[in-house]
Amino acid sequence: MLTKQNWVERAENVEVEWRAFIDGSYVEAQSGKTREKINPADGSVLANVADCEAADVDLAVAAARKAFESGEWAESGPRHRREVLVAFADLIVAHTEELALLITLDMGKPISDSIGEVGSSARAVRFYAEAIDKVAGQVMPTEPEFVTLVTKEAAGVAACITPWNYPLSQVCQKIAPALAVGNSVLLKPSERAPLVAIRLAALAAEAGIPAGVLNVLPGLGSTAGQAISLHMDVDKISFTGSTGVGKKLLQAAGQSNLKSVSLECGGKSPNIVHRDARGLEEVAKVAAEVAFVNQGEMCNAGTRLLVHEDIYDEFMGHLAAASQGWLPGDPLDPTAKTGAMVDAAHVAAVSSYVESGLSEGAKIVVGGKSEGNYFEPTIFEGVSNSMRIASEEIFGPVLSVIKYSSLDEAIRIANDTQYGLAAAIWTTDLHTAHSASRKLRAGVVYVNCYDVAEMSTPFGGFKQSGLGREKSLMAMEEFSETKSTWIKF
Ligand code: NAD
Repeated sequence: MLTKQNWVERAENVEVEWRAFIDGSYVEAQSGKTREKINPADGSVLANVADCEAADVDLAVAAARKAFESGEWAESGPRHRREVLVAFADLIVAHTEELALLITLDMGKPISDSIGEVGSSARAVRFYAEAIDKVAGQVMPTEPEFVTLVTKEAAGVAACITPWNYPLSQVCQKIAPALAVGNSVLLKPSERAPLVAIRLAALAAEAGIPAGVLNVLPGLGSTAGQAISLHMDVDKISFTGSTGVGKKLLQAAGQSNLKSVSLECGGKSPNIVHRDARGLEEVAKVAAEVAFVNQGEMCNAGTRLLVHEDIYDEFMGHLAAASQGWLPGDPLDPTAKTGAMVDAAHVAAVSSYVESGLSEGAKIVVGGKSEGNYFEPTIFEGVSNSMRIASEEIFGPVLSVIKYSSLDEAIRIANDTQYGLAAAIWTTDLHTAHSASRKLRAGVVYVNCYDVAEMSTPFGGFKQSGLGREKSLMAMEEFSETKSTWIKF
């Protein structure tokens, strides 16, 4: 295993590709403009990254359309696409340390987490590679003189717009199913962490993905992102990010060509610890982990912790102790559990939530402070569900604890939110487990666990947490059109 010193030396010598990747080559933005990318851990400049805008989007869409129509990828046959995507997954694994370092330098998470993220990204690519030749169409029972086929085909030019909190795995979870079904892809990574996505383009090309089939456009949401959303020749957008931007994308689709839109948006997920939960110390450790891991910058974080009054005092003691395991450290230290927040603007936003919690009458049990871009794990108690710290997504290491007295009350509070991404309940009673999991309005429900996942299982939200599903074979459908073909004898 590499030591902190090894990582520091590698960071000092890191080579960063800063250009866009269009039609098989790295190119500067048409305007020549760049944006400074800062390392949040120490404030150093990592790169001046190409700042793509509408003109670059036009070029990339044209390249993607040409590639799609050539059929070189879309019609290349499942065996070929599978082999190329398996090679792509192998290359991701072979470059684990390089990709992990880019993730950590760009957005501040601990290097050990970044290594884990590279592994899950490669698994996502491999999952869709292996799925390509296992998804069949249907022959429908219609009239005797007909053979009626229902088949899936690629949507065409698919745009993937991604956030910064998992800058590689969010990308791979989208581009892999998109490429597997034969789309040409336009990837716009977050301006807050674009570096690993830019590097990934070269690995895709090395694996054999033809020019124009995967284009990467670093740029702002308000320029490059908006141009993609309004483009008349983009067939599909798959977006992961905030609910506010998700709504803008739906509007843009309506204003332009009615492109299909899938959305993976925010959350404010309830984690219910019922009075009959077993092993409170262990449960408290998980509750702290799912609030503070990845600096709390996680869409399905368990940010509203609902604790039954009978076990409240004992549980809070365990929780406060467990939170001390999540103090931030140097992201290049392989033993660090959390690192730096993505940037100073985000630290300021999280701090203002802490102030709002205090001014609305909640009490800080632990944490509450930041130093530079490092934020302490923070726990509030005395929280009511209508406070901003309980109703809005903070996307930082801030946990709101709410005391309840009956299961019905817990379910009502849990569902009293605009979001519906994840929810959890800890109980030893089978009836409580089943009835709560039925009543909880969320796309993922965890019982006696939290944040477990496999590629085979759909992920996505009810209500304003999203539209459509990611992961699983459902993601391939999100990037496909359905065709019914009637053949008469
Ligand atoms: P964001 O909405 O600010 O940005 C996401 C992406 O959208 C970025 O690439 C950004 O440049 C782009 N964008 C911004 N404005 C745009 C516009 N007008 N048109 C087109 N594109 C635009 O979100 P973020 O801060 O990058 O990420 C944090 C959010 O992502 C949180 O809400 C989090 O819950 C959510 N998230 C959800 C999931 C999930 O699976 N549901 C996973 C990770 C993150």
